[in-house]
Parts: sequence; C-alpha cells; structure tokens
Amino acid sequence: MTASCRAEPDAPSDDVFASSRSAMVAHQIAARGVRDPAVLDAMRAVPRHRLVPENVRAFAYEDTPLPIGWGQTISQPYIVALMTELAQVKPGHRVLEVGTGSGYQAAVLAQMGAQVWTIEIVEPLAERARVDLLAIGYTNIHVRAGDGYLGWPEAAPFDSVLVTAGATHVPQPLVDQLKPGGRMVIPVGSTLQNQSLRLLVKLEDGTIEERDVLPVRFVPLTGEHAERGGPKTPE
Ligand code: SAM
Repeated sequence: MTASCRAEPDAPSDDVFASSRSAMVAHQIAARGVRDPAVLDAMRAVPRHRLVPENVRAFAYEDTPLPIGWGQTISQPYIVALMTELAQVKPGHRVLEVGTGSGYQAAVLAQMGAQVWTIEIVEPLAERARVDLLAIGYTNIHVRAGDGYLGWPEAAPFDSVLVTAGATHVPQPLVDQLKPGGRMVIPVGSTLQNQSLRLLVKLEDGTIEERDVLPVRFVPLTGEHAERGGPKTPE
C-alpha cells in the first residue's frame, strides 16, 4: 500500500466534515453493530462530501441516501459499511463493484487497501466518479462505463463482488468471477419493495452458501439484467 492509494488529509476548510464523519461512524455505523476496525477507519477517512453534488454536500454525513443525478443515489453510510464488512475486504484483495454511482463505495474499498474494479451503466456518472476519485488521491480504482451484468472478466477472479443496485436474481457471470472462498454481497428481490441484502460465499469446492442479512431498498439493476429478469412475454 502506498499513500497515493488513500485519501489525502482534509484541507483545514474541510475540518467541519471530519468531525461530522466521526459522528457518522459512531452514531450511525458502530452503534448499529458494524465492528470491523478497518471498515470503521475507512469510513472515518473517506471524504464523502467530495463525492456528492454541491447542492447536497451539507447532508453528506446524514443517515440517508442522497440524490447524485440521473435518477440515482449514493447509498446510506450504514449500508455501505455493512456491505463492506460482509465482504471481509483485506489489503491487496481484488474487488469488483457493480454500480459505481458517486464512487463512494469504491473509495471505501480502496481506502482499505483493495484493488477495485467498478462498473457504472450511466456514462456521465462513471466519468464524474473517475475524475472525483482521482482528485481525492485514489489510484487503485479502475472505473468502466458499461453494463456490470457480465462483470469484468479480464480482471477476474475477484475476492469479493459488491452489487449496489437491486437485482431480481444473482447474475451467474458474477458468481463465476468469484474466487473459491470469495464473497458476494447483493440486494435481491422480485420487486423493489421486497429486496434483501444477500451474502453469498463460494466454498473451495465451488458450491455456494447464501443467507439474507436484512431488508433493503436499492435502485434497480438495469441493462442486461432487466432484460433477463423482466416479465416474460406470453408465447
Ligand atoms: N455504489 C454507489 C455509491 O457509492 O455511490 C451507489 C450506487 S446506486 C445505489 C446504484 C448504481 O447502479 C446507479 O448509479 C446505477 O446507474 C447503477 N447501475 C444500475 N444498473 C447497472 C448495471 N447493469 N451495470 C452497472 N451499473 C448499474
């Protein structure tokens, strides 16, 4: 790990955000049971306010998702922390994220020392995240504009895969791109109202163990996923 893979310290004018961030970690994340010290440290370090649009910057450390444009959202901080903890990310891990959005989840993973590949279907969001993440100092994040349904085969296999948009089914290409021992965290549900955050673990023999962790509500996974999982036209 080199320092260039981490967020540069806040400028003095951003000190106000450092204390908001500490409060966010204490009251929204640790208080709800996220315990991994590396996750808590990363959440204390990543300047979330630099990854949201100017008009919502004042709310960057609130306990809520926020609009980031193009009808999309940055997830609630607690959900980001929980997904990261479930993925058991370690320095040097190769991690795939589907749904870059603002780039915040990718930044948390990179802050923990992972190499991150992240795919965003809305091209202007991918472009903005690429610029913002580099400006903060993350050089260990690869951003691609495109459909994440098929994953990133050239960079596979991954130690973990995080899908940050709601799926009706688990995309098989993403399962295939997990290493033995790898973990996937993905919101799954037949409708937006009944999603659960699901943890899948690929065992050494390739079999999958899975469990639903808690109810969530994410914006939908679109693209190829919607085509394959959408309602079938009667014959
Ligand atoms: N992880 C993001 C962050 O930290 O800001 C939040 C993700 S937002 C809840 C979900 C994102 O998934 C949206 O930006 C949306 O455009 C994107 N998305 C939806 N379907 C996708 C697909 N098939 N491939 C890649 N990205 C997709």
